Amino acid sequence: MLFGRRNKNPIRLHDKGVVEWRYTTCGYCSTGCSIEVGLDREGRPVSARGVGGADVNRGKLCLKGILEYELFRTPGRGAHPLMRAHRTEPFRRVSWDEALDRVAEEIKRIQARYGRDAFAILSTGQIMTEEFYTLGKLARGVIGTNNYDGNTTLCMSSAVSGYKRSFGSDGPPGCYEDFEHTGCLIAVGSNLPEQHPVIYWRLREARERRGFPLIVVDPRVTMLAQQADVHLAIEPGTDVVLFNALAHVILKEGLADMDYVRRHTTGFEDFAAEVERWDPDRAARITGIDADTIRHVARTFGQAESAMVIWTMGINQSTHGSDGVVAINNLCLLTGNVGKPGGSPLSITGQCNAMGTREWSSCSGLPGYRLLENPEHREEIARFWGVDPEFFPKRRGMFMTDIFRAIETGRVKGLWLIATNPMTSMPNTERIRRTLEKLEFLVVQDAYEDVETNQYSHVYLPAALWAEKEGVFTNTERRVNLIRNVCPPYGESKPDLWIFNQIARRFEQGRRMRFPETPRQVFEEMKQLSKGRLVDISGMDYEKIEAQRGIQWPCPEGQEKGSPRLYTDGRFQHPDGKARLIPLPFEDNNERPDEEYPFWLNTGRVVEHFHTRTRTGKIGNLNRFSPTPYMEMNPDAARELGIEHMSYARVTSRRGDAVVLVQLTHRVPRNMVFIPFHFHDCVNRLTLGLLDPHSRQPAYKQCAVRVEPAPDQQAAARRNLAARAY
Ligand code: SF4
Repeated sequence: MLFGRRNKNPIRLHDKGVVEWRYTTCGYCSTGCSIEVGLDREGRPVSARGVGGADVNRGKLCLKGILEYELFRTPGRGAHPLMRAHRTEPFRRVSWDEALDRVAEEIKRIQARYGRDAFAILSTGQIMTEEFYTLGKLARGVIGTNNYDGNTTLCMSSAVSGYKRSFGSDGPPGCYEDFEHTGCLIAVGSNLPEQHPVIYWRLREARERRGFPLIVVDPRVTMLAQQADVHLAIEPGTDVVLFNALAHVILKEGLADMDYVRRHTTGFEDFAAEVERWDPDRAARITGIDADTIRHVARTFGQAESAMVIWTMGINQSTHGSDGVVAINNLCLLTGNVGKPGGSPLSITGQCNAMGTREWSSCSGLPGYRLLENPEHREEIARFWGVDPEFFPKRRGMFMTDIFRAIETGRVKGLWLIATNPMTSMPNTERIRRTLEKLEFLVVQDAYEDVETNQYSHVYLPAALWAEKEGVFTNTERRVNLIRNVCPPYGESKPDLWIFNQIARRFEQGRRMRFPETPRQVFEEMKQLSKGRLVDISGMDYEKIEAQRGIQWPCPEGQEKGSPRLYTDGRFQHPDGKARLIPLPFEDNNERPDEEYPFWLNTGRVVEHFHTRTRTGKIGNLNRFSPTPYMEMNPDAARELGIEHMSYARVTSRRGDAVVLVQLTHRVPRNMVFIPFHFHDCVNRLTLGLLDPHSRQPAYKQCAVRVEPAPDQQAAARRNLAARAY
């Protein structure tokens, strides 16, 4: 294939011999790009391309998506089930029956000896929605543990909690198309170009066409901040104060949509009384943003025909994460910016199917956004599944972060980890290591047997990966999209759905219940349960989803297309149909820099890697572009400490230390360092992870560290780098 001017330096693309393209959806971030994977004559995946007719990505893919076809045969994949009596012994290869029998026996043994909740299950945002639903049925209807959660507690639970408090239900109300209509966009703690490159491209195209103001709130000068009309370099953890002050100005200057507030919200008086206390001068002293800038941003937002706020981990991963989300929702409600084109509080989710688990996994309740606390919901699901409603707990159990503490104290004795890697992702990894060692039984179910947490397991179950199976994901804008099976599972690995069904059969109650075998059958079951719910998918089927390149819920039976927005009629999910304006007093409760630990530590992503690098760490080109952990440090601060660009430094917190390569840059202020979170045995050795009281999400982005040169590390690290280069 030739590009460029004829006969003059044409660019020649290598012909990879693709004979067939198969439709699927990217398995990394929550953008939800439609991908076609190219297969050669032998059926091997050899290429990938974006799908031109897909509304989400319109033919584009980011670096990770372009190289995703290489995943299928990456090193470290698990080909066989493995087992050992004790975690200090080597694994031995066993049959699937042997491994599954042991898992079922251990669950029964632990529950019989210590009680049902002594066995915990932690899943992911990475498997198919049909698999989440089936796991929920198994956990809630068969095993019956209430200590069942997912790693979405580490990234999205503040958004979930905030939406529930404000609107009565989870579910992002907006969509990417809002960029085409909005008159003002505030992005908080969201570095789109590195986190969600294709959403960034949609936003950038929309701004190039219409030039609406972009306001970025972030303590770092991120790539997105560099393009902002206004960059608010906020003091970490003080977003609630900023949003209270914006609401203060909007109310004072008569910019609120009081007609909307009266018709569709409750709680205005208490909210207004709290906001009254947060004049811009007071807020400026706490947030570090000058009062006139706060006034300017409030006027820009309040005067726009429609205005939206997007956010990611900068809001969620905080001791005020849930309050931060409520503060954003308050601002949008106050200005009537919910459910209208260009007017929305839109959380940008992390993992490819974090939304699928929120909707259908039953982690925080029962399927289809039903609540354990609601007797009618318990009754309805019990009848549908054929179980006794009394078998269900009457309120949700512990979150992931609390489950680890319960292992420490001995309340939880057994754990099943599904596609999650706490040894790299949890804060204070040294503490997590000691915690995992206390378990009587740990089973790890993952596509990769070299995932760090597997060092502590007794049984390893090799799971099929991404498009080695079939099912749906839901993206950030509630779009359900299809993953077609591109190639068979690696070795003897099996789809997670198959594994859940096999475990169910090993319990008497599981044999009495119906566990459909194919994803399509499971999807049909979910459709029935979704009828009349906010998350109604009864008008969808696999063929229709593929034909439309994804459909946004709600899409009730008989409706041809999905619904781009929620709450367009101003009716919310609280029993009275109204949204809540919630007063948010501010309490400064983070670990803060002091004389001993004088720097804020901030964490985040790089574009080349995804989460704990279980997958992207195996892709050659992604590793060449981003091979090693590094730390951004302000040159003025570095000079005082005698630290040079591209030298090594030791970073120490009250939890531990790590040695990193230093990149001097003015992207971070003088009192802050930034380290990407993807690398094992690095930044999470340092993080504290205080928990948000509502969402139990850890505050990864706010803790204190000190930095010193590490000259003894230079030679060893250079040798390592040279070895890693090839
Ligand atoms: Fe995949 Fe996200 Fe990249 Fe799209 S933007 S290709 S969904 S990683």
